[in-house]
Amino acid sequence: MRYYGDYIARLIERFGSLPGIGGKSAQRLAFHVIAMPVENARALASAILDARENVRYCSVCCNLTDDDICGVCGDARRDAETIMVVEDPRDMAAYERTNEYSGLYHVLHGAISPMNGVGPDDLKIKELLKRVNDGVNEVIIATNPNVEGEATAMYIGKLMKPLGVKTTRIAHGVPIGGDIEYVDEVTLAKALLWRREI
Ligand code: ZN
Repeated sequence: MRYYGDYIARLIERFGSLPGIGGKSAQRLAFHVIAMPVENARALASAILDARENVRYCSVCCNLTDDDICGVCGDARRDAETIMVVEDPRDMAAYERTNEYSGLYHVLHGAISPMNGVGPDDLKIKELLKRVNDGVNEVIIATNPNVEGEATAMYIGKLMKPLGVKTTRIAHGVPIGGDIEYVDEVTLAKALLWRREI
């Protein structure tokens, strides 16, 4: 038995197909939309459509952008000799928030994961290789410190070797403000391995 009409059922189904949205949340969102002023609902719908139709990959770093080149690549004050390789545009945003990095980025859009059928050709690695050929000093590999991220870092590291470009990996260790007692063994072991003189 159907409780709701077709329109609302369809809206619930659409919300439910989004990541992290279960049946109850989908229902809550759908009812929220129905209760909205029509102009707000229209603004929401057009924000979704505009973003989907107009956002594309930066032709240099593969970040998401409205234009051919993203804001970071288009900024002449950035150090174009350093490229930080990240998995996702959100990782790039996280590094930007540190205000500690002034180089450029390269967004892979994922990590190598044989389990999920993701190979090197599914990532923006060819695009990275093209960039490294001209005047790049250092490639910083900032993929996630998990199995996929490490495999991706190793793979890219191997590709960089014959190009003679300095390739570094971000450090892993104990979180700032954390408590050593609660840190897992693998992180602690890495923190010890990559200790530095003070
Ligand atoms: Zn870019």
